[in-house]
Order: sequence, then structure tokens, then C-alpha cells
Amino acid sequence: MGKINVLDKNVSELIAAGEVVERPLSVVKELLENAIDADATAITVEIKRGGIDFIRITDNGTGIEATDVPVAFLRHATSKLKNQSDLESISTLGFRGEALASIASVSRLEMITKTKNDEFGTRIEFEGGTQKDLSKAGCPNGTTIIVRNLFYNVPARLKFLKKDSTESGAVQNIVEKLALSHPEISFRFIKDNKSVIHTAGDGKLLSAIYAVMGKDFAKNLIEVGYSYNGVEVSGYISKPEAAQNNRKMQNFFVNNRYVRSGTCIAALEEGYKNSIMVSKFPACVLKLNMAFNTVDVNVHPAKTEVRFVNEKSVYECVYFAVKTALTKEDILISQNNDKNTSNPNLLSSFRETPATQTKIQNGGNVIRINADSLSNKGSMVFRAPQVKLKDETEKNTGESSVKNNSFTHNLTDYSEPKSEAEQKEKSNLDEFSFINAKAFEKKRSDEINTEPPTITIEVDDDNTETIDIKMIGEVFKTYILFEANDTFVMIDKHAAHERILFEELKKNTDLKQSQVLLVPLTLNITAVEYDTLKNNSEIFTQFGFRFEFTADDKALLLEAPLILHSYDLGEIVQNIIKNISENKMDLTPDVFENLLHSMACRSAIKAGADNTLEELETLVRQVYLDKKIRHCPHGRPVGIVMSKYEIDKKFGRIV
Ligand code: ADP
Ligand code: MG
Repeated sequence: MGKINVLDKNVSELIAAGEVVERPLSVVKELLENAIDADATAITVEIKRGGIDFIRITDNGTGIEATDVPVAFLRHATSKLKNQSDLESISTLGFRGEALASIASVSRLEMITKTKNDEFGTRIEFEGGTQKDLSKAGCPNGTTIIVRNLFYNVPARLKFLKKDSTESGAVQNIVEKLALSHPEISFRFIKDNKSVIHTAGDGKLLSAIYAVMGKDFAKNLIEVGYSYNGVEVSGYISKPEAAQNNRKMQNFFVNNRYVRSGTCIAALEEGYKNSIMVSKFPACVLKLNMAFNTVDVNVHPAKTEVRFVNEKSVYECVYFAVKTALTKEDILISQNNDKNTSNPNLLSSFRETPATQTKIQNGGNVIRINADSLSNKGSMVFRAPQVKLKDETEKNTGESSVKNNSFTHNLTDYSEPKSEAEQKEKSNLDEFSFINAKAFEKKRSDEINTEPPTITIEVDDDNTETIDIKMIGEVFKTYILFEANDTFVMIDKHAAHERILFEELKKNTDLKQSQVLLVPLTLNITAVEYDTLKNNSEIFTQFGFRFEFTADDKALLLEAPLILHSYDLGEIVQNIIKNISENKMDLTPDVFENLLHSMACRSAIKAGADNTLEELETLVRQVYLDKKIRHCPHGRPVGIVMSKYEIDKKFGRIV
């Protein structure tokens, strides 16, 4: 007698059902997706006891024609897919034709449905997969499905369910994700007779976010819009100061489908690098759109994992989207977007004013910097600020000078280096300025550039603003206070200076200054790492590493950057390999960044140090001009801004 049996239909049904329906959450997800695919504009989900006793989903979508109703409950019956080629461009959420059959086989299910062309609707009922009723019914257009006693006939499954509250939490979570991915649909979620979520369905993502994630969350967002290499990213990311303790608030949607994607998470977090505190996580609701055939959703029945045809483009697009939005959102300027401030949007108001001047007020004295003559192909060089005695600078270019009692404060000098004598005089006066790479330069005077220290500020063409700065002073020898464009600003002088130095060091440190190792180092790497290394050797050259690849497929490190000589070089190489394979934008090894962090930290002015008002103003100016300087390298904020409106409100001048 043979040993192989064909399973009886009931058993094979249950096994198949188990793949689609694991928990109440999967039932709700499948039924909600059906309602969305049916073009519903309003959907109500109601559950009791975590969805184990009762799930009811009502939609106002297309409904199902009477003759199709029993067919819809057959396995692999779908209206969304006809042939193999359709598989390549799935635009509906469902396509397997398994959900209704699976759910019906593990519960007591009832469906009432009507299309707008039919006079009567249809009612159908199943118990453990067996049809019990099929009849006409009077009902509105759309579909209602009730699922009772889930897994009543599969006790093994029932045993694995968690507490009711855990199950209902999971259900709520999926309703939230779907509500966020479809702001054009009004979702209502009722849990044990209590309405928990209700979205407006007005098509606005922000109002869906408001309804689902709450007012406080919605208040602290930055809008994102970017498109690159066939990928489009839109949505919202959290302001750096509204970072979270975990990744739960990171939501990604690909072609309107909620997904979990390591690529997207990594790109998001790299975008926030150096702007968010260590061990905090950004939050987001980001929607990615791309051609349907560049993403494979057919990976798993639960379908939250996706595969991208071009992983790298997705990574880069998300990264650029985040980075651009964060850079545009200048916390020192635009945090006061409360109405009633006289400069609600400096960036846009300035675009209409071609004159590109930066005006800084100082006790009635005004410095004018003509940015036009300075910006050269979108970037200008910002020489280390210098303080000079009055009569010495009148002859200066006239670009930037201010009379301030006995001081002329030559803050920025964008002109070409002058005569040697003048140069020398300037470097003597450098003692007064603290924003330069002096400390670092001393340490490595023969290793790095001999040019005077410069700070380069990237300037967008349309990114020049008129800023009035009025210095107030300093408190606790730590925080600089000033007024700027109807805002009151406090700046942490150490954090600000540290970030300035960090950016400067990063720009000026030449990693290519390499040193031949006395004994070549045999790298202990995997075959995959070896290939990455070999295929990207020019990247490593850029970082000052040189290798030899031996006949027996070993990689020997011959040369390494001088500055990293006391570190574990093998580990650094592996770190760069990892950055390459993760498609990171910034391939710089972590250890190098850490090194620069600590150098910047050590050289930066400390809280408690004595500084003159002029020095502080110089710092303020740099912070204001360079939008990179908004967080210290560890992500602590550099400044806190309060608008006049906010202060007036606190004092009860405005209600
Ligand atoms: P799939 O969604 O993969 O097509 P399902 O088993 O979930 O498979 O559904 C089978 C079919 O039943 C769908 O293709 C659709 O035609 C129909 N259907 C299911 N739910 C609804 C609904 N809420 N409104 C209209 N049609 C529905
Ligand atoms: Mg379906």
C-alpha cells in the first residue's frame, strides 16, 4: 500500500487558510484592503474582544453582483488579476483571491453586499467554510462582512492568540496604517463599542496624520517632496527636536501600500545624521511612488515586505528627500511660522526681492554684506572672522564693516587675499577670533593645508535673506541671547561653535594623507566583502587606503590615512565596505567622524568661558548664515527660538 495520501479538502483548506489568516489583525487587513480596492470612500471597522468574538467591516464601495457572490469565496477567485502579465503591474492591494475563502473556512462569516445597479443585495453565510445561506437582502450599496468566532474550528490556532488587548492593539495598528495610506477615505474604528479613530477622508495627508497620530505629533512635522531617478517621495518627517525613543512612528508606504523596509529606514536615519540626538529616532509618514514594475510586492502573503528593483535609487531618493527638507526647515528662522509675525516666511519673501543683502543690526549700526558679489557658483568662502581696530579697516573693500564705538568689526572678508603685509597683520589679529580651526591647525600644522582657515558656506542661489540681528547679551556664560526678525533666540555657544568646527574639520581634513604600513595588514573579510572592496577600490583610494589583491583572493592593506594610524584599520575598512553595501550616501567611516567630533569638542569654546559681545556676535552671525549649524555634532540643538507672537501670548498681550 502506498504511503502518500491526498489531503481531504477540509484539511488542505485549513492549511492554506493558515497562511493568510494568522490573527484577527490579518482578517481586518484583508477585508479592509478589499474595501479599499472596491473604491470605498467610507469604511467602518468594528471589533469586540480583540476581534476574536466579532469583526464587522462596512464599506460603501462597488459591492459584488449577485451571481459573483458565491464565486468570490472560492480559493483563487479574484476580479483583480486575469493572467500572468497582470502580475507585473499590480495596482490593487489584493490579487491572490485567497482572503475570503480563507476567512470563511476558519470562522462563522456573513456578508451582505449590493452594487448600485442591482435593486436587491445578496446575503451569504458560511460556517467553517461550508455555505449555509444564499438569499436576497435589502441593503445599501456597498459591502458589510461580519466575522464571528474566529478559529472556533481550529483550536490549535486559538491557543496562539495573545491577550485581547494585544490583539486589538494590533488591529488598531493596521487600521492606522491604512488610514494614513488613504487620506481620501474616511476610516472609523470602533473597539468594544468605543470609537477610537475617525479620519476625515478629505484627501489631505496631514489631516489623516492629525486624526491617527494626534495633535502634538502633527504639529512637529516638516513637509517633504522630492523626486529622483524614477522614485517620488512625499509626506512628512518629524522635526529633529521631536525625535522618538523608538522606530514605531516610522511609516513608509510604497505605491500606497504600507511596507517595512530596511532600505527606507536606513536612508531616513542617515538623512538625520548629526541633527538628532544619539539614541533617538526620527518619525515619518513617507509615501514613495514608483512604477509598479519596479517593486515586487509578491514576496509574502502578509505583503509588508517589498523588494525594490533599484534599491539604490530608493535609498538615495529617501535620503535626499529627508536631507533637503531638514535643510530647508531652518529652525532659527522658520520655527515662528505662527501667524502675526511680520516675516512669516523669509525664504519666499526674499525670492521676490532680488537685492541680496544681509543686514545685521548692532545697537543702531548696520552692516551690509553684499552676497551677490560673494556667491560664486552657489558657494562662498567665509574667511575666519577677525576683529580690527577702527581706523585700520576703512580702506577695506567696503563689503562688510560696522562702526561700533572703538571697534570696526570686520566679520566677513570675502575678497581675495591681499598684500603679504596685510595678510600678516590679519593673522596677528586672528588671536581675537575664535571661530577658526586654530587648535586643530596647530596640532596638524604640517599635515594639513597651509591656507588660512576658512569656513565655506553653501549658499543656495535663491537662499539669501535679510536678517536683522540685535545682540542682547549672554546668560550663565553659556547662552547667547539676541533678537532677529521678530524672534528671540538663545544659542548655546559651545554647541554652536562645536558644530562649526566639526563642519570645518570635515571639509578640510585630507584623508588622502596616507602612510605606507611597515607590515601590510592581511584583512580578515568574507568573500562578499572582498568583492565589494575590489569593485570599489577607487572609493578606498579616496579615503587614503591602498590594497593589494593576492592570487589566493586575499586583500592586503598597504597604505592607510595618517590620521587614523592609531585605530583598528581592518575594522575601519570593514566599516566602509558596510557603508557601501548599505548604499549610504556618506561613506566616511564612523571612527573618522568620531575623531572629528572629539577634536571639535575639545577646541570649541566652553560654556563658562569669557567672551566679548563682538565675539559672540560673530558666532551668532555664522550660525545664522550656515544652515548646517543647527545641531551640535551629537544632535543637541544649537538654538532655541521664540517668536514675538509666542512671547506676547505668554504675557497675555494676545489671546
Ligand atoms: P482578492 O482581494 O485577492 O481578489 P479576496 O478573496 O480578498 O481576493 O476577494 C475576492 C474577490 O471578491 C475580489 O477580487 C473582489 O472582486 C470581491 N470582493 C471582496 N471584497 C469586496 C468588497 N468589500 N467590495 C467589493 N468586492 C469585493
Ligand atoms: Mg482581498
